[in-house]
Order: sequence, then structure tokens, then C-alpha cells
Amino acid sequence: MDVPMTTNEMIKVEGLAKSFGHLQVLKDCNLTVQRGEVVVICGPSGSGKSTFVKCINGIEDFQQGQVTIDGACLSSRDQGAAKLRARVGMVFQHFELYPHLTVLENICLAPVHVLKRSREEAQAKARALLSRVGLSDKEGAYPAQLSGGQQQRIAIVRALAMDPVAMLFDEPTSALDPEMIGEVLAVMLELAREGMTMIVVTHEMGFAKAAADRMVFMDKGSILEISETKRFFEAPRVERARLFLSRILAH
Ligand code: ADP
Ligand code: MG
Repeated sequence: MDVPMTTNEMIKVEGLAKSFGHLQVLKDCNLTVQRGEVVVICGPSGSGKSTFVKCINGIEDFQQGQVTIDGACLSSRDQGAAKLRARVGMVFQHFELYPHLTVLENICLAPVHVLKRSREEAQAKARALLSRVGLSDKEGAYPAQLSGGQQQRIAIVRALAMDPVAMLFDEPTSALDPEMIGEVLAVMLELAREGMTMIVVTHEMGFAKAAADRMVFMDKGSILEISETKRFFEAPRVERARLFLSRILAH
């Protein structure tokens, strides 16, 4: 067949290794995420999950290995890295909206300054996205006037306004009050169903079961298991994952 092998690979991580000084936090990590696939990463605190997703969008550099996004190589020394980074949306545990800017200004900032879109075009797109997450009435509000769940939905919209080829989420609901978790997960689930390629670090196993195609289990800087979601929850391959699951599902 003449079809190139790489057409469906949106994110490819090969042999990734990273140290902070003498502390090695990622060891030979390999993961390929297909276009439209949703992968959930779980594992104990300190296992390297945050560092792993930060390396994927280039906010952390790394000593060994290779990250490829939509066929282009993300290298810490590469001039094109910043452009590539802009194509991968990232949502963190803390919303990191600019407090002195309105919701609309927060969303339009990067599209106008990084993508050089006109203000009108950026605002039209922002308003369409706000409507999708049910926050049209908040475009003139400042972050402090919004609940945590609303702020996190704005953070998702802000990332989507850059037309990302993939979205990375790092524990997006773990700083939220319990009653606000659902509204954020609902937006993420809809995004997944629309075909967005996503890597989600989360311990929300209900979301994982509903949205994830595959589960990744990390421990001590290594990816110990990558399994189809159903298989992972029914019968994880590695003992550490079994133990981890029994602990968090007992909650
Ligand atoms: P997780 O997200 O799974 O909790 P992290 O990726 O945050 O794990 O951290 C992995 C390891 O790297 C931990 O031992 C943590 O203390 C260490 N670490 C993370 N960031 C830094 C940093 N900037 N400097 C030094 N060590 C760090
Ligand atoms: Mg983390």
C-alpha cells in the first residue's frame, strides 16, 4: 500500500527522558496518539504525568527522545517549536486567566497577537465558542466574577480559540469544588465526541470510562501500561495499576 504510515498519528512520543538535575523524572516514555483519539493518563502523585504532558507541548524541554506533533518534530532547540506549541492547546489545574482582562479579551489575546487574526475575526470565533460552552452572557465579565467551573470552561475556550490540532489537559478539575466538576467534564466529553485528539491527566475515572479510548498508567517516571479503556478497568496488566485503581475507586 502507498498510504504513509504516519497519516493518523497526531502525537508521537519516542524514547522521552527528562531529568531535573540528578532526579530523573521521565524514563524512556513512548506513546502514540491517533487523530481523534482520547487518551487518559493516571498514576500516583509525583509519577511524572505533568512533566510528560508539558514535554509534549514544549513548555518543558527534555534531554532524550523525540516528540512529533502532526508530523512535525518538536525539538527544544528548534525555531519552529513555538509555532508547533501554539497548535497544541493546554489546560492546567489552575485556570491562569489574566485577571485584568475580560473573558472576551482573555480569549482573543493569543489569536490576535500570535495568529495575527483581526480583532473582529477573533471576537466572532470567541463568541461562537462561548456559546458552545453556555457562557455567552459572560464575555464582558472579569475572571474574579466567575465561579471556578466557569473560569475553567473559559480556559478551555481560550485554548480552542487557537484552532489546536490536539488538546492536553492536566488535572483540569482537581482544583474545583465538587459541584463544578461535572460542567467542566461535560465540555471535555463533548470535545472528545466531536473528534478532538486529547490527552487528559485525570483521576476522574467516570470521565475516563466515558471518553477514553485508551488508558496510560505511569509510575516513577515510566509508562507501565497502555491498555484499551475497558481492558484497563476490568483487568489491568500490571500489579501497580491494579493497586492504584483499587485505591482510587474505593474513594
Ligand atoms: P505528577 O504530575 O505525576 O504528580 P510531576 O510531573 O509533577 O508528577 O513530577 C514528577 C517528579 O518531578 C516529582 O518528583 C517532582 O517533584 C519533580 N519535579 C517536577 N517539576 C520539577 C521542577 N521544576 N524541578 C525539580 N523537580 C521537579
Ligand atoms: Mg501533576
